[in-house]
Amino acid sequence: MTQGKSQVSDSYSVMTKVKVLFLDRDGTIIYDKLGGYISTLEQVSMLPRADDGIALAKSAGYKIVIITNQAGIAKGIVTEPRVIEINEYMQRMLREKNAEYDLIYYSPYHPHYPKPEFEKFALWRKPETGMVDEAIKDLAAEGFEVDRSQSYFIGDKQVDVACGINAGLHPILVLTGYAEQSQCILRQTPPEYIAPDLYDAIANYILAKDVLAKDAPVSHAAADTTGGAAMQP
Ligand SMILES: [Mg+2]
Repeated sequence: MTQGKSQVSDSYSVMTKVKVLFLDRDGTIIYDKLGGYISTLEQVSMLPRADDGIALAKSAGYKIVIITNQAGIAKGIVTEPRVIEINEYMQRMLREKNAEYDLIYYSPYHPHYPKPEFEKFALWRKPETGMVDEAIKDLAAEGFEVDRSQSYFIGDKQVDVACGINAGLHPILVLTGYAEQSQCILRQTPPEYIAPDLYDAIANYILAKDVLAKDAPVSHAAADTTGGAAMQP
């Protein structure tokens, strides 16, 4: 499910190539309620520098799309209107730093809590790529062609990294939230980069790579002078 789709432009317009940061929500942008689900506005708290990092990415031309599993809905822990309210509340916090997201998608589905009305979102639940695919379709309808080779999936869980890999995006793990580094090793889904937090992932890896690419358009290597570390497969 998504919030705030904008108007579809006419189909004859030329597609504009865009780079996108697909971001997990809980444990990546805002503090996760570890072992539970965020279900009140009081529990929404920005992780340090997350908003600043997103603002940097936006000024560098990236579109921001939030991709979040919200199985608390299927489990009856949080209502769907409340999830929407929480998303809008987070958007207002981000807007104060010029870091608002362009689109947001959430999956209410959980395989152990089957609800007929949520079955259609089974393939939206990360590590499945339904939400990413839907976002790419919605952006195409607005005249934007997502360049997956220049786009990233950033999250704190193994399913985020796996979703990024499955969707053909550059996967990055952040060591905030659940920081599932060992899960990534166990399940053989190595992220391209491991960052202490979202700000580092954006400022010291993604934007640093962009600068290197500009300086050496023919041949360039990923920055290795950053705060994070590449993970061996
Ligand atoms: Mg998370």
